[in-house]
Amino acid sequence: MIELNNSEEKIFNKINALKEKSGSHSPSVFTIKNEIKEIDIKIDACFLSNPYATDLFIDYLKKDLIKSNKLRDVLEFYPSQNSAISNFLSKKLKINSDNLLIGNGAIEIIQALLHNFVNSNIVVCIPTFSSYYEFVLPKTKVLYYQLEKKKKYQLDIKDYLNFVLKNKAKNIVLINPNNPDGGYIKKDNLEFLLKNLTHLENIIIDESFIHFASEDISNSPINYIQFFKLYRNVSLIKSMSKDFGIAGIRCGYGILNSNKVQKLLSNGYLWNSNGLSEYFFRLLINDQFYNKYEKLRKKYINEVNYFEKELSKIKQIKVYPSSANFMLIELLDGSTAENFVSKMLIKYGIYLRNCNDKIGLSGEFIRLASRSRSENKIIIDSIQKIFNYK
Ligand SMILES: *Cc1c(COP(=O)(O)O)cnc(C)c1O
Repeated sequence: MIELNNSEEKIFNKINALKEKSGSHSPSVFTIKNEIKEIDIKIDACFLSNPYATDLFIDYLKKDLIKSNKLRDVLEFYPSQNSAISNFLSKKLKINSDNLLIGNGAIEIIQALLHNFVNSNIVVCIPTFSSYYEFVLPKTKVLYYQLEKKKKYQLDIKDYLNFVLKNKAKNIVLINPNNPDGGYIKKDNLEFLLKNLTHLENIIIDESFIHFASEDISNSPINYIQFFKLYRNVSLIKSMSKDFGIAGIRCGYGILNSNKVQKLLSNGYLWNSNGLSEYFFRLLINDQFYNKYEKLRKKYINEVNYFEKELSKIKQIKVYPSSANFMLIELLDGSTAENFVSKMLIKYGIYLRNCNDKIGLSGEFIRLASRSRSENKIIIDSIQKIFNYK
């Protein structure tokens, strides 16, 4: 069982104080580095991004903006308006531009939908990404659907459908793959749900981690846009933060009914995107960039699978099945998640997500993101050391 010594205990208290201030999200690496000098973070396995994609983006950014001296323009001038960015991006997504709303991160679209179109109630599966229940209006009732531990937190489609019907739900949100467990709803199952729920007002599908999921061995990309075209109550939400590894520049979008886009654009969201995120969206439509990205996406999925396999060999932990780039992990040796996360951070400089604050989880859980091959090796090595393997 993992326990902290006196000096570790002192640092642990400081971490806790920072955590209190960050609400239901973890304190950022910047915050920890600034506030707790004793900690030297070497690997951030808390944030859920593809590090190879970040490298690719930085390569392009250096070439296109820094070496060519165009960075000044990006910083000095206004970016394009929301609808102008939608115009070129919609072509890449093969949708009409009036169905696209660019967000300052996906979080802005989530907030916009919950504040403007979700009224009486909404079904939220737990455990989940907290914004979906924290941002609802006071009048909106959140109907929590508990994902079951004995089903390894995978969604039971028929049971879920019954729950939605029985509770006379008007709105639902599905994150696919889900955060924090990586549970994935296969496309056929998702379509079965959509077919049976055409009477709902809103079906919000958050596909922020979909680039990491696969249904075949060649890891071909999965796309839900056809569901948006077939079912009028479907809204798709997509963050760029995780799959492209660019959370800092805040890029996301929503694929929504044109009347929703129109309503939102009519009183706001004019320049909600910034110069760097416009630069990113222009890269996204560049085939050369996208082909390179696609290779790195597959390389990273392979890395994630390898990481999952190696972690599964450690007998003090249970790794839940995940189709995303992170794993929900339960500690089985009697250690608390707090002690495990603190030890990994203080002793090895590895930052993990303690899932204590996630509603709907019972047990001692952490969430661990896959990084590059070399970083994953260090993570596994450190976990083995913590459990006295070496
Ligand atoms: C991280 C996350 C978001 C927020 O994405 P941003 O684009 O960074 O705002 C939205 N949905 C889920 C499920 C997430 O995990």
